[in-house]
Order: sequence, then C-alpha cells, then structure tokens
Amino acid sequence: MRLAVLSGKGGTGKTTVAVNLALSLAPHRQTTYVDYDVEEPNGFIFLHPQIRTTSTVFLPYPKINGACTLCGKCSEACQYHALAVVGDQVLVFPELCHGCGTCGIVCPVGAVDEVKRPLGQIDEGERGGLQCLQGVLKEGESLSGPVIRELRHHEKGHTSQVEEVVVADCPPGSSCSVIHSAEGSDLALLVTEPTLFGLHDLKIAVRLMREMGLDFGIIINKDDGGPLIREYCTIEDITLLGSIPFDLEIAKIYSRGLNLMHEPKWDDLFKMLSERIVTEVNQRRAGGERA
Ligand code: SF4
Ligand code: SF4
Repeated sequence: MRLAVLSGKGGTGKTTVAVNLALSLAPHRQTTYVDYDVEEPNGFIFLHPQIRTTSTVFLPYPKINGACTLCGKCSEACQYHALAVVGDQVLVFPELCHGCGTCGIVCPVGAVDEVKRPLGQIDEGERGGLQCLQGVLKEGESLSGPVIRELRHHEKGHTSQVEEVVVADCPPGSSCSVIHSAEGSDLALLVTEPTLFGLHDLKIAVRLMREMGLDFGIIINKDDGGPLIREYCTIEDITLLGSIPFDLEIAKIYSRGLNLMHEPKWDDLFKMLSERIVTEVNQRRAGGERA
C-alpha cells in the first residue's frame, strides 16, 4: 500500500502528518517513510533514524573531446540550452544539463564523452522498525527530478510485499516533482489548513489529483471546526479522512524537533487516522475489484 502525503503549499503540516502516520503504522505493518521533498527534506529531523547508508546521486553531462568538428548539431539538439558553439569551441553549461544524452546521440563524430557530477544523495536508515529514506538535493542545485527518480528506485528495493506500507512525504505544490513522487499511489492524502489561502491551494492540488487519476482524500490540519473545507468536500464529493485540531501544544512539540507520538492524546489521534486511511484504501480496492 502506497500513501502519498501532499499539500498545495508548504507549511500546512504535511510532514507532521506523514511522519506521525508512518510512526503509528510501523508497529502493526512493515512501514517505510520516504521523504521526497528533496529540496527541503525535514522528516528525519523528527524521526531521528539511525542512518545505515548514504549514496550519491550523479548526473551525467557532456565533455567535448578533440574529435569535435564544431558542426553545432549538439547545441541545436539540446532543448535545455546547455551547449553552445562559440568561436572554436563548444561551451558546456553543466548546471543546465538534464543528462538526457541527446548530444552524444546526434554527434556525427563521437566527440561527446560523458562525465558525472554529484547532484544529491539518498540516505537510508531505520528507527525502531520504521524504515526511513530521504533524498537530499545538493545546495545550489535546482534539478530535483533525478534525485526523486533514484529515491523511487530505492523505495522499490525496500518494498517487495503487498501488505507493506509506504508513506511518501511529497514536495509541496503541483510541480513535476509532485507528480513523480505521488504517481502510482493507492491513496493521496491532501493536507490543508482551514483558511482561504489553504482552500485556494487545495483546489489546485485536487485538480492535479483528478488529472493524474489518483484516488485522494483530505486531512484538515489546525482544524478550527469551521465549515470552509467541510463544505468544499461536500460540494466536490471528496472524502474527509480526518483532522488534526488547532492546538498550541503541537506547535511547541514541533518546534522542539519531536514527533507527536510521545503524547497519548496525539498517539490515539494518529492511530485512529491511520486505521481510517487503511480502511479507506481497502474499501476502495474492494470497490474497484467488484466494478
Ligand atoms: S545531455 Fe541532454 S541536456 Fe545535457 S547537454 Fe546533452 S543534450 Fe543537453
Ligand atoms: S555535434 Fe559533435 S562535432 Fe558537432 S559540435 Fe557537437 S560535439 Fe562537436
């Protein structure tokens, strides 16, 4: 079972939900928490896993050798403008290169060699039976796609059994990184706040889920009991999976870099939420099999 935790924007409590959900599931099912928010991963701050391995993610980029005839075919073919023939040389801009390999394919004289640069890293660890993975994009880099792809590859290596649960803490927003980290999930959990801004971003996330054809439900964070999100769910026929009340104690625990499971009150809340989510996925699966 794969659960993608998303939010239309940052700061809605997405990681709080993902981390505590994973912790509440772990004693009952083999669970893996994966932090796909590679530009700003912070799940490990609250999980404190013991890191077992760290591997570097490399991205290939071209290095032009002496066989080059300056024909310009590589720079014409590069849709990312990472190559330019200037005077008697081909300039390469590694930070623009997406590592697609097209320049090497189109070069008629084999003048494109491939070299690699480090783009980020994947950390794997464990905390009391909960498997933990995170991708970290190197500072100053903007190309998160290859790190996310590599992280999904590692995730697959971790999860071989159907009954295992993956909690994917996806990047905020509605970019390609969100799509690549959420696709293939059994259920997406859209975390939102009950404000007009929250609703605005939630609507964008809902549109994305519908375009992707992903099953999804909503979790209200900092819930004040108001009607804003509830009415939206009713109008749009979206399942409200649960809510986390507005409580200053949560903010205090969060600011100390702790998870909420130490407190019985929040432990119970996340147990109920995780049971509700697992039931929801099983019901949708059963409904899908019947259809
Ligand atoms: S590998 Fe692709 S993106 Fe990089 S320089 Fe070559 S064509 Fe451009
Ligand atoms: S396609 Fe090959 S030969 Fe032509 S400019 Fe590029 S590297 Fe040089």
